[in-house]
Amino acid sequence: MKETINDTDFFRLYALCDGVYAAIAKPGQGAWSNSGIVDLGEELLVFDSFATPSAGYELRKQAEEMTGKKVKYLINSHYHGDHVFGNQAFADTTIISTSLTSKWFDEKNKIVDLETEIEETEDYLKKLKDQIEFTADRVMKASLTNQYKEMAAILKDLPIMKMVIPNVLFEERMVIEGTKRKVELHCFGGGHTPSDTFLYLPEEKIGFMGDLVTVDLHVPIYDPEQFSAILENVKLLDIETVVPGHGYPGGKELVFTLEKYLAFLIENTKEAVKNGVPFKVLVSNLEIPDEYVEWIGVNGIRGNLSKVYAFYAG
Ligand SMILES: [Zn+2]
Repeated sequence: MKETINDTDFFRLYALCDGVYAAIAKPGQGAWSNSGIVDLGEELLVFDSFATPSAGYELRKQAEEMTGKKVKYLINSHYHGDHVFGNQAFADTTIISTSLTSKWFDEKNKIVDLETEIEETEDYLKKLKDQIEFTADRVMKASLTNQYKEMAAILKDLPIMKMVIPNVLFEERMVIEGTKRKVELHCFGGGHTPSDTFLYLPEEKIGFMGDLVTVDLHVPIYDPEQFSAILENVKLLDIETVVPGHGYPGGKELVFTLEKYLAFLIENTKEAVKNGVPFKVLVSNLEIPDEYVEWIGVNGIRGNLSKVYAFYAG
C-alpha cells in the first residue's frame, strides 16, 4: 500500500499516485465502504460517498482541503446504502450513475417516514445484538459486531439523512476529461447488484471497483453468471492497482481471488442442482476451503451458497 497522507475518524487517505487518492474505511465508524478522490486538474471527482452523511461531509472536506480544489463530480458505483448515504454532502455537484442504478436507488433507499425508519433500524440492532450474543463462531461474531457498529452509525445520522439521487445518467460507458487526466466509467452489467459501475484510470492503470471487487468478504451476489463475466472483462483491462469496495487496495490478484470464489460457489451449486441434491445436503457435505474461513460477512459463505443455489434452481 502507498503512503498514508491523512487519518480521520471515518477513513484513512492514501495517495495512489500524484492526484489520485483512496479513502479506505475504518471498520465500524460509519464510512463502511471505500471511496476515491481524483484530481482532474481544475476540479475533483469523487467515487462513492460512504454510508453516512457525517462520513460524506468529512470526505468532501478532506478532498477540498488537501487539493485546494472543488468537487465537481460524484460517482455512485451502485445503489447500496453503504456507498451512497453520504450523497447529500455532494448535493451541489454532478452526481453520476447508470440509469438502472438510479432507478434502484430511488426504489430501495426511500425514507418514507423517519419515525418508522428509526424504529425498524432499532429493531434490527436489537436482533443483531442477540445474534452476537448467541453465536459461538468467532468470525461470525466479528462480522455481526461490525454490522452492528455500522448500522448504529447510520441510526445516529438518520435524523439528518437525505436521499440525493444521481442527476446525470449513463448506460455502459462515460468518459470524463479533465485538464490533467481522463477517467472512464464502465458498466459491464450487474453482478453484485443489477447494475455495477467502476472507475478506470487508463494512464495510471488504477481501477476503483466498487463492490465488484472486495477483500476477504462474502460479498452479496445478485447474479453469479454476470458477476463472473464482468470480472472476466475487468481482467482484460490494463490495471495495476485495484481499489476494492471493502478492504485494502492491491493488485490484479484481488480480481483473481474473487473470481475463484465465485467459481467455487457456481461449480458446487450448479452440480448439486443438476443432480437434485437438496441445499441442506449440499451444505452439510461441502468442505469449505481454508482460504475462505476467515472471510467476514453476516450471512457467511452459506448465505452466498444459498443465493447461488437458488439462482440455478430457478
Ligand atoms: Zn454493495
